[in-house]
Amino acid sequence: MALGLQHGSSFPRIASNGGDDSRAQPSAQQTVGRLAEMRGVHAAFAWFRSHSRELEDLQLQVTAIPAPPWGEAARGEWLRAKFEELGLLQVQQDALGNVFGVRPGLDADAPFIGLSAHLDTVFPAGTDVRVAREGGKLYGPGISDNGSGITALLAIAGALRDSGIQQAAPILFIGNVGEEGEGDLRGMRHIFEQPHWANSILSLIVLDGAGTDTVIAEGLGSRRYEVTVRGIGGHSWSDFGMANPVVALAHIIARFSETPVSANPKTTFNIGTVQGGTSVNSIPQSATMRVDTRSASVEQLDRLERALREAVKEGTAETSSKKKEVLTAEVRVIGDRPAADLPAESNLLKTIRAVDAQLSNNSRLQRASTDANIPLALGREAIAIGAGGSGGGAHTVQEWYDPAGRDLGLKRILLLTLALCGVAEE
Ligand SMILES: [Zn+2]
Repeated sequence: MALGLQHGSSFPRIASNGGDDSRAQPSAQQTVGRLAEMRGVHAAFAWFRSHSRELEDLQLQVTAIPAPPWGEAARGEWLRAKFEELGLLQVQQDALGNVFGVRPGLDADAPFIGLSAHLDTVFPAGTDVRVAREGGKLYGPGISDNGSGITALLAIAGALRDSGIQQAAPILFIGNVGEEGEGDLRGMRHIFEQPHWANSILSLIVLDGAGTDTVIAEGLGSRRYEVTVRGIGGHSWSDFGMANPVVALAHIIARFSETPVSANPKTTFNIGTVQGGTSVNSIPQSATMRVDTRSASVEQLDRLERALREAVKEGTAETSSKKKEVLTAEVRVIGDRPAADLPAESNLLKTIRAVDAQLSNNSRLQRASTDANIPLALGREAIAIGAGGSGGGAHTVQEWYDPAGRDLGLKRILLLTLALCGVAEE
């Protein structure tokens, strides 16, 4: 028999009366409560405590391996070796560098429950990624985001191996590339573009950064653009009168900035960088800006995109018409993260709430842009949660992680994973 909540699969389930499977299934709370009483689960909880020092060492080790966007190979190799040491099966990497390892389940036909952590950091190649342990805290760029998530993957695999728990559905451990800004979720996007994975991952739990106080179940959509205006350029004195791309860009910015945005769903835009020209006495040949737009609603993102394209057209035409020469403009999409929500009645959301109630953990729902956006946009169940402990200074070289309370985060991840997988009764 198995304790579990898996819907749409053939897992044996615990029945409340005499093994009659047609009876009502246990609630998420009952399932999680019974899991928390199992000997194997207690052993796993004890494992988290007794291995706290080793987990810190692993976190320092992985953080000291540079993993800039598009440069995660060395860290991926490291994770692949760790997956093998932990006895995961079918350990492999794909063409992009995503790393996979499987802990098989009792039910050979069941789809995977996925546990993922992104490998990449925001820090460019050449950043000093030295790490330190000081006063009980760990320091290093990326130590929390996502050193703590990768460490949690290893902790769950290690605790399951050593505690004798037999879960029903197989667990797919994933270390993925390309989550941070420039990566634009390319690692997770690629995984869900492969029918092999897309059709076999039922739910995905994304482990990202420290903490236990949030559940990201709503994917914030974002689209990013690079706008470039080009002209002939010339000398500021002898070619005076030539259309100036910087002036056109200023007109574009002035127009686009007037675009009204919806407050609910919250929708925002930002002009983040502006570049152009070569010297004070040259009429520039080009001017470029980068624009970030965000919303929980695809319609609002579409609306902002139309407004941006309209502003580009009008601002460029206005500048061209007053001058001798015609400017050209190009709008390039440099980022596109889909927006989507996990339905309130979903199994995954009910289960994480039950786990939090079981552990007396307070958490709140949040909207953010994470790897979970990709499966959510495909109508799959996915959330992003923290790996426990606490952290700060994310995306700065002063980043730190405090392992105090890490085991609450690990217990939370373990109970959630096992409740989704189903577990054989002792
Ligand atoms: Zn992260």
